[in-house]
Amino acid sequence: MSPPQHRPGLRAAALFCLGLLAFSLFPAPSEAREEARGRPSHMVAAAHPLAAEAGLEMLRAGGSAVDAAIAAELVLTLVEPQSSGIGGGAFLIHVEKKTGKVESFDGRETAPAGASERLFLDADGQPLGFYDAVVGGRSVGVPGLLRMFELAHRAHGKLPWKRLFAPAIRHADAGFPISKRLHRMIANAKHLDAFAETAAYFLNADGTPKPAGTHLKNPALAETLRRIAEGGAARFYEGEIAAAIAKTVTTASRNPGVMTVADLAGYRAVKREPVCRAYRGMRVCAMGPPTSGGVTLLQILGMLEGFDLEALGPGSAEAVHLIAEASRLAFADRNRYLADPDFVPQPVGALLAPSYLKRRAGQISRTKSLGQAKPGTLAGIVPTHRFAGWPESTSTTHLSVVDGAGNALALTASIESPFGARLMVNGFLLNNELTDFAFLPAKAGRPMANRVQPGKRPRSSMAPTLVFGPDGHLRLSLGSPGGPYIIGFVLKTLIGVLDWKLPLQEAIALPNFVNRNGETELEAKTALEAMAPALEAMGHRIRFRDLPSGLHGIERKGDTLFGGADPRREGIALGEKIGKMAP
Ligand code: GLU
Repeated sequence: MSPPQHRPGLRAAALFCLGLLAFSLFPAPSEAREEARGRPSHMVAAAHPLAAEAGLEMLRAGGSAVDAAIAAELVLTLVEPQSSGIGGGAFLIHVEKKTGKVESFDGRETAPAGASERLFLDADGQPLGFYDAVVGGRSVGVPGLLRMFELAHRAHGKLPWKRLFAPAIRHADAGFPISKRLHRMIANAKHLDAFAETAAYFLNADGTPKPAGTHLKNPALAETLRRIAEGGAARFYEGEIAAAIAKTVTTASRNPGVMTVADLAGYRAVKREPVCRAYRGMRVCAMGPPTSGGVTLLQILGMLEGFDLEALGPGSAEAVHLIAEASRLAFADRNRYLADPDFVPQPVGALLAPSYLKRRAGQISRTKSLGQAKPGTLAGIVPTHRFAGWPESTSTTHLSVVDGAGNALALTASIESPFGARLMVNGFLLNNELTDFAFLPAKAGRPMANRVQPGKRPRSSMAPTLVFGPDGHLRLSLGSPGGPYIIGFVLKTLIGVLDWKLPLQEAIALPNFVNRNGETELEAKTALEAMAPALEAMGHRIRFRDLPSGLHGIERKGDTLFGGADPRREGIALGEKIGKMAP
């Protein structure tokens, strides 16, 4: 069967180039072509073709969206190792078609019991440099991905757990070609030669990066996956694999960490309430804390609801200005209030209250930037905590799935910075997610909400998102990597689809622009460059930079699914028709 494809090869690349040439002119949607090939009724959009195919293989076998996502993410552990994997964590938001119930699953890493709030301070009490903190055992959080998959699979899996591992084991045994992007990431990565096992896997003997096209086998990962396939997640969190992880972390030749087998055995994934709010007659649902992604995204949308973005259109400097201003205000709140809800009370209701957002939006002028925004004062909440925004770097992966029964999900998974802590064990990389904590435990005598504490989850920006239409049916599943930029990437795409009525693929390809309560950052070498003078005249400080989102998603229109894959990366959306689609 050859599925219809949304591939950011020629077609999406062409869309992107067109976007560069004429920001306000959009090519005709490609829906007619999709119709001719049959309307897809199940679909997987992921960062690598082999991962999307693995997901599709599960759907064809009668698997659910959760089954497909697990199979796809296990393949990503192998083929996109720089971004995510079983040595890291994830967030997943899911809707069950039958009941309409939206649930979210938290597989975020935790700090080991022995970690102190001084984890990232040097002997003089000064914060470590970023890479001094990242490389080695110190930054490794207790991985959460597999426990989260176990929880989600118990709730929504249809195929046997073991079956979900087959594609990843097959590819790890047979080998896969190093993609151009993986090669580039290897070539650009710092400290990939810090540890022998990692160096031997990604580098030639002379220290040069293995070239694109190199056939890479990973028998150690195949063996690891075989054991977890047979014995369940416990085979990872207890016994030999757990012992090997703890040993690798604690005996690292640089920055040995404090993780124990008890930390691994004690890890718990958590089902949490998703955060949802209305936007333009739709309902947008996202992941709540410990990620800041959902709350910040919904705050921005809430503040923008009073502005007619549709009339302004995507090529308008005023639209970019308004979106940037709302983002400043939301990021000011994010930086003050959001952290792990198990450690710091999270005023989610107050932050999303319509009256509060209306008041905050009142600070936005149509013609002049408000400059750096201050966090809002919430009734009854004493803002005793503050934290600096530590710059999370850009790695991570996002995938979306809709199955034939109409169940849908968005999954964002991460090992934090590219190649995580650079430590490899049993064929997989360990995350450096703990560097998402604030390095300073306190500032001006006040403790940071996001400081390191034993067992705590570091604040994230990941924003897997589901959107429902006025009829209650799924409209979109979406997400992206990009550290704190994730929020802006997902926001732009949502506005592209919901306000500017663009097909998802074109909304993804729109040039990126982000404001994290500082400069307005515009994607370099795009039509946004021409907009800079108008934004500067409104008081924005502008910075051009690469903003390599990795947006993947699925859009549902009527009874047809349309995929979206970011032309900036090498992902793909694969869909098939499987008879009549669930209504
Ligand atoms: N560690 C980051 C977070 O949880 C994600 C990193 C990235 O997207 O590159 O928000």
